[in-house]
Amino acid sequence: MELDDIAIIGAGPTGLFAAYYGGFRGLRVKLIDSMPELGGQITALYPEKFIYDVAGFPRVLGKELVRNLIDQALQYRPAVCLNEQVQELHLEGDRRIRLVTDRQEHHARAVLITAGIGSFAPRKLPAPELARFEGKGLAYFVRSLEEYRDLDLLVIGGGDSAVDWCLNLDGITRSTTLIHRRDRFRAYEDSVKKLYDSSVRVRTFHELEALLGADRVEGAVIYDNRSKAEETLPVSAVLACLGFHSNLGPLRSWGLALEDDAIRVTTRGETSLPGVYAAGDIAAYPGKVKLIATGFGEAATALNNAAAYINPALKVFPGHSSTLLDKAG
Ligand SMILES: Cc1cc2nc3c(=O)[nH]c(=O)nc-3n(C[C@H](O)[C@H](O)[C@H](O)COP(=O)(O)OP(=O)(O)OC[C@H]3O[C@@H](n4cnc5c(N)ncnc54)[C@H](O)[C@@H]3O)c2cc1C
Repeated sequence: MELDDIAIIGAGPTGLFAAYYGGFRGLRVKLIDSMPELGGQITALYPEKFIYDVAGFPRVLGKELVRNLIDQALQYRPAVCLNEQVQELHLEGDRRIRLVTDRQEHHARAVLITAGIGSFAPRKLPAPELARFEGKGLAYFVRSLEEYRDLDLLVIGGGDSAVDWCLNLDGITRSTTLIHRRDRFRAYEDSVKKLYDSSVRVRTFHELEALLGADRVEGAVIYDNRSKAEETLPVSAVLACLGFHSNLGPLRSWGLALEDDAIRVTTRGETSLPGVYAAGDIAAYPGKVKLIATGFGEAATALNNAAAYINPALKVFPGHSSTLLDKAG
């Protein structure tokens, strides 16, 4: 039986940064994620969106940030298990924890849960007949900006995602129309101002009535929800940004103290179970702000506290990352 020092559940930005720190502390690390790729929400939902609030990067593309995180995390060669959902967590005594996934079992001295918002899925347009257009012009998130080059695009929604995608795709699409059922946006004011300054056609108080097309989207019928007047738009792509819902899934049954949809942690990142730590979006404490930047700090705190738990000879404070390099050099 292989025994890892620490198993990290979730390979989003927080889990990746924690994997780096685990390697830096000389620990044997395993990273497990249910998705087929590393990068968590960034990879799944917004690889081509610019991120403006990661310290040290005035702006960085989602996929570029993930690429750098992967480079940083994999330099110490952690074991990486993708396409594997952790379903059970058992305290085995003798400071050993057993994880059961849908494929196999893993054993570790400590576990760091960086499971973000759990398994997540986009909120879909309610009309069931629209499902046949999914992947055939109708999408719920953007995998590649290039897929939209020279297309006539309809974006649906009034939150940050809808507004950001309109701005990021402006100049790539041939035309972009945004419909929103109200005249108030749930997006940063500065983004909304940029939206109105852009070439995007903004149609407030409008909703989707139907999509047209035989095999692919060839048009969209929208209507004014005040006058009920209908209009047909000749679009070949529709991007519905209606938010997404998340589900903690299996985590709920692991005996952890939860707070709404998150795991309660101490200032050391400890959960209510010995040897089990949590960080990033999944971790809850008073004043929590769910951001990439906060996840990085929490990963450093939780992982270094876990290091001292795993090996009491290790200090919590890791020293400075350059110290090790200085010694090596
Ligand atoms: C559209 C959008 C735009 C955003 N823009 C910004 C921004 O500009 N700036 C910013 O700071 N934040 C932004 N965020 C928020 C940011 O993405 C999150 O705060 C961040 O991804 C949290 O990272 P994480 O590693 O904690 O969790 P996640 O990124 O959610 O990663 C968690 C990983 O855990 C895996 N997982 C979950 N449960 C299990 C299980 N049981 N077994 C195995 N694997 C599991 C999931 O598959 C996932 O890969 C945005 C979010 C969205 C949706």
